[in-house]
Amino acid sequence: MTDPFRRAARIATVELSEILQISEAAAALKKAGRDVISLGTGEPDFPTPAPVIDAAYQAAQAGQTTYTATAGTAELRAAIAADCERVNGYRPATAEVIVCTGAKQVIFNAFFATLEPGEEVIIGAPYWTSYPDMVGVCGGRPVILPTTADTGFAITADQLSAAITPKTRWLLLNSPGNPSGAVYTAAQLQALAEVLRDHPHVGVIADEIYQHICYVPYTSFRAVAPDLAERTLIVNGVSKSYAMTGWRIGWGIAPKRLIDAMIAVQGQITSGASSVSQAAALAALTGDQQMLAERNDDFRARRDMVQAALNATGLIRCGSADGAFYLFPDCTATFGKTAPNGVQIEKDADFCRALLDCEGVALVPGRAFGVPGHFRLSYAYSRASLTEACHRIARFCAALK
Ligand code: PLP
Repeated sequence: MTDPFRRAARIATVELSEILQISEAAAALKKAGRDVISLGTGEPDFPTPAPVIDAAYQAAQAGQTTYTATAGTAELRAAIAADCERVNGYRPATAEVIVCTGAKQVIFNAFFATLEPGEEVIIGAPYWTSYPDMVGVCGGRPVILPTTADTGFAITADQLSAAITPKTRWLLLNSPGNPSGAVYTAAQLQALAEVLRDHPHVGVIADEIYQHICYVPYTSFRAVAPDLAERTLIVNGVSKSYAMTGWRIGWGIAPKRLIDAMIAVQGQITSGASSVSQAAALAALTGDQQMLAERNDDFRARRDMVQAALNATGLIRCGSADGAFYLFPDCTATFGKTAPNGVQIEKDADFCRALLDCEGVALVPGRAFGVPGHFRLSYAYSRASLTEACHRIARFCAALK
C-alpha cells in the first residue's frame, strides 16, 4: 500500500543536519551524567539587550498582538532602510525591504519565488549547511565550488566564470562566512562583480547576517557593485548581531519586483513575522549601537585565545578567521592516529566522535559543510568553557598514538 505520509521527491534527500545530530549526541551524553562542553551551535551567548525585551513587552501590552502587514511593519521596514544607510552607505526604499521569520526565511522565500526546476545556484564550500538543502527543496540544483584556506575560503573570479551556465540563476555569497569565518575583501567582491557584469541572467544573494561580527573593515556586496543592485538581494537580520536568534527576525533588501514575489510566497507560508518580535527588532535597530562594537571586541579576544590554543597542539592547523564567531581548523594531521578509546581516526567525523567520547567536547565535522578534513568550532561560549574545551582538545591531541 502506498504510504500517504511518504516524502515528496523534493525533500527525499533532506536529513537532520549533522549539526543537530552532534548537538543531540552531546545532549544524550550530558543526560547520562557526562560533563560535556558543546561548541557546536551558532548562536551568541550574550543575552538579548534589556531595552529590546522591554520594547517587546510594551508592544504586547499595547495590543501589538495581531497580524502585521505581510512584508513587515512600516516602522520596522523604515528602520531597516535607515540602518542600511547608516551601516552600508546606501538607503533602499521601504518597498525594497521585506521582514521575514529569520534570515533563513529570506533566503528560502527568494529561492521558492524564483527557481524553476533544475536551475542552478552557485555556492562556495565550506557552506552553511542549509544552503544546498534549501536550493534542493525549492527544485533547484546546488553547484558547489570548493575553496581552501590558502585562498581565504573565497570563490575566485575564475571559478565563478567557469561555473556559470545558461541555467545559473543565483550566486550565493556569505561574508563573514559560516563555517569558515572568512570575510571577502572589497577587491575579491569587485572581481566577482566584474564576472557577473558579463552574465546579466545571474542574480546575487549576499548573506550578510554576520556583518557586525567582523574584525576587519566590512564591505557589503551592494556597496562595491551598486550597478548590480538591480539583481542583488542582501540578507541580514538581528539574530546574530543583537543576540536575538529566538526572536526570528531577518530581512531582505532587493528591487521591488523580487520583494513583491517574496511577499507573495511569505503570504502563503507564515503571513508575516511575529508582531512582538518586530517591535523588538525595531528597538534593537533604533537603540544603543555601542554594544555591537563591545560584543565584537569580546568575540575577537575569544577567537584569539582559541586559535592560539588550537595551533599550540601541533596537530590542528587553524588559519585566520576574520568574523562570524567560528573557526574552521584543519585536523588532517590527526588522521592515521589512534584515540585513547581505541578509535582509529581516518576522517573529520572520527576526530569529532572520538573527541566527544574521550573528552566530552562537541564540534561539528567539516564534511557537514562540504569540506572534509576540518571541523567547525563556535567560540560564542563563555571564556571558562572555551578555556576548558581547549585544555581538553590539547590533552586529546597529546594522547593520540
Ligand atoms: N545565514 C547564515 C550564514 C547562518 O549561519 C544563519 C544561522 O545560523 C542564518 C543565515 C539564519 O539566520 P536566522 O537565525 O536569522 O534565520
